[in-house]
Amino acid sequence: MRIAMIGTGYVGLVSGVCFSDFGHDVICVDKAEDKIRMLQAGQVPIYEPGLDVLMAKNVAAGRLGFTTDLARAVDGADAVFIAVGTPTRRGDGHADLTYVMAAADEIARALTGYTVVVTKSTVPVGTNRKVHETISTANPEAEFDVASNPEFLREGAAIDDFMRPDRVVVGVESDRAAQVMADIYRPLYLRDFPILTTDLESAEMIKYAANAFLATKITFINEIAGLCERVGADVKQVSRGIGLDGRIGNKFLHAGPGYGGSCFPKDTAALARIGQDHAFPMQITETVMRVNDEVKKRMIEKIRDACGDSFNGKTIAVLGVTFKPNTDDMRDAPSLTIVPALIGGGARVRVVDPQGRAEGEALLPGVTWEDDPYAAVRDADAVVLLTEWNEFRALNLSQMAQAMKTPRMVDLRNIYGREMALKSGFDTYVGVGR
Ligand code: NAD
Repeated sequence: MRIAMIGTGYVGLVSGVCFSDFGHDVICVDKAEDKIRMLQAGQVPIYEPGLDVLMAKNVAAGRLGFTTDLARAVDGADAVFIAVGTPTRRGDGHADLTYVMAAADEIARALTGYTVVVTKSTVPVGTNRKVHETISTANPEAEFDVASNPEFLREGAAIDDFMRPDRVVVGVESDRAAQVMADIYRPLYLRDFPILTTDLESAEMIKYAANAFLATKITFINEIAGLCERVGADVKQVSRGIGLDGRIGNKFLHAGPGYGGSCFPKDTAALARIGQDHAFPMQITETVMRVNDEVKKRMIEKIRDACGDSFNGKTIAVLGVTFKPNTDDMRDAPSLTIVPALIGGGARVRVVDPQGRAEGEALLPGVTWEDDPYAAVRDADAVVLLTEWNEFRALNLSQMAQAMKTPRMVDLRNIYGREMALKSGFDTYVGVGR
């Protein structure tokens, strides 16, 4: 199969590389010339474990290429995937479809022969029909179908998720398009996973429903954590106790500083907006968004309490600022709410993150970047564990406590425990929900 992948971000690049690894011929396209230059030089513009090796392998095999020339990539392709960004539109919470529609318009003019135009970006219900309309208007002669193929990969584990998905969802309107999609994903059939073929609207809805459900699950346990603190329960034990129930499941039940990242905040906002537009308010999702904002604010209060009710003049070391480990993605990370509040309260903030600095420098003005957690805590008044990178999971707590001015730990990921921290010389330990 010949595939054109439009957009080489976290989803487009991973999907393109993985499709080429299946044996398909893939050309990845991006408007950003600097990204394409890097890719052509064999460099990966994002941090995603394992992507560099898989990319190099498939470039060397002659199955994977990169270009800014969309028309050349689309010409003769069996399928063209749209994997451009769909950020929140400024002001109203809608998914911004500017990039999707611009890509559709450009694709329309470049189509030759029967092609399936597949939307991989997360898009509101009805978008695939709009893509169809845009292409038909721009190129009435074009022979094509549209398909919705939402992506469920997680940054940090993207390759494994793509290669071993829980399911692949394909929304189509014709058998011919279904066949092309089946051919593309056929290499995965060796592994036992369901390919779910639906109509366009259901496929679009599945993606928003899945993300809203996961955001709800996280927010639910975060709310339970808040109550645990009041009543003297331990949320870790509560999570385990409920997660062992097969109807609930143990994933996404870790209490923490609130969800962030490139998907949950924007997708919950978009779903809420879709509900409003159809006079059917998504009350649970709207509440989840509000509660998640409160969770992040509660974390600021926690740190303030641990610092003796004021940030003023304090030195605080923050370990981890990306929205989760194993990514350099800073989009909507809880750190973007928490760190500015510390600085705004008069604290000096030192930050360590294994991959977050390149993105984070512009987003977190006024912090001092350190490479090493032990250097970051020297003479500090408190250390805040914000992202659970492996690098922060087995720290020598005694060494840290000794280096600090006042050994206080705010562990927003519940990596350590009170007993362990106090035994290691910390005089204050604050976790979440315990
Ligand atoms: P991203 O911002 O990392 O990448 C988008 C890329 O598209 C950018 O490189 C941009 O330059 C390029 N682009 C925009 N318009 C273009 C055009 N007309 N032609 C060529 N290139 C163009 O975005 P992302 O995180 O990869 O997300 C892409 C989509 O996938 C979004 O809809 C997102 O919701 C969805 N998604 C993301 C994830 C994730 O974990 N990041 C997971 C599942 C789904």
